[in-house]
Amino acid sequence: MAGMSDLQTRELLCELLRAFYLRGWVSGTGGGICALDPDGNMLLAPTGVHKERVQPADLFVIDPRDGSVLRPAADANLRPSECNAIFRAAIGERDASSVMHSHALSSVLAGDLAVDADHIAIRDLEMLKGIRGLTNRDTHLVPVITNTPREYELTDQVEAALKDDRFAGAYAIIVRDHGAYIWGSDLWETKRHAEVYHFLFEATVARARR
Ligand SMILES: [Zn+2]
Repeated sequence: MAGMSDLQTRELLCELLRAFYLRGWVSGTGGGICALDPDGNMLLAPTGVHKERVQPADLFVIDPRDGSVLRPAADANLRPSECNAIFRAAIGERDASSVMHSHALSSVLAGDLAVDADHIAIRDLEMLKGIRGLTNRDTHLVPVITNTPREYELTDQVEAALKDDRFAGAYAIIVRDHGAYIWGSDLWETKRHAEVYHFLFEATVARARR
């Protein structure tokens, strides 16, 4: 990430995984995170591990153009996250440099609100200001896609949502029955967007129950 060394970026990724774990967003070894390193390559967390215990040396260096592993994690038993292709799609389509993947309950329940539609609408919340480009008077559309047996099989739906003009102002995609992908121009914006979107999901779900 610009202005940060490779090690600082790796340490911040691990710090955010610990913070997200404590919020219940990456529990049960689910979820994940990535960010571009100073060389423009993608630092990617491993799959199937307790995310709050990931160390800087556990991150893979991935070529963002083709998804190939440029440098594996120090531990040869680790495998890169299945989010690889989806994270690269968000980085390529939206000029993001960091993406997080949440398995939060609030993102699953927010997806339920779409019913048969391909999106949910969020409105009348001050916290909308925390999403880049929005005011608290905007109605914000977040795309909702359908879950698949394997994570990488979501990639076509993710790419279609990223190209859809209705969702040009969205920095998140909800995966029905699964979770959400949330991104930003750098790790700090991804952190802010993750915090704001989870609040927006929780508030919208709670209001729908009234
Ligand atoms: Zn997942």
